Amino acid sequence: MIQQLKEGARQPPAVPVNRQRGGGVTAPPAFKRGQAEVNYRRGYPLRQCGVCVMYWHRHTHQMWGGCTQVHGNITPYGLCDLYRELRNPFGPVLSTSERKDIENHFEYHRTRKGIR
Ligand code: SF4
Repeated sequence: MIQQLKEGARQPPAVPVNRQRGGGVTAPPAFKRGQAEVNYRRGYPLRQCGVCVMYWHRHTHQMWGGCTQVHGNITPYGLCDLYRELRNPFGPVLSTSERKDIENHFEYHRTRKGIR
């Protein structure tokens, strides 16, 4: 094993890629992006990592999970520019404009309170 690491052999992911959330991903990305590069930040109630196809939870009840596209610990409450929403099997309740209103409302209070 140590010899393989010295030779740069890749280790398999802890959770097989085809069993991670999102499931449609059949191969790991050639490389992951840095959090700063993809503008990783606080998410919105309706748009956050927890409902992104690239997010995966750890096995136990932990605060941090991960992302198939972005390096490091990822919280379900985060968001980045690569966000792609999971399809909701229950179907949408809100219209696009209602969703936008909620995002604007959240953004207004986030800015007013100086929350990053
Ligand atoms: S929003 Fe970005 S960081 Fe979060 S799970 Fe999706 S791709 Fe990964």
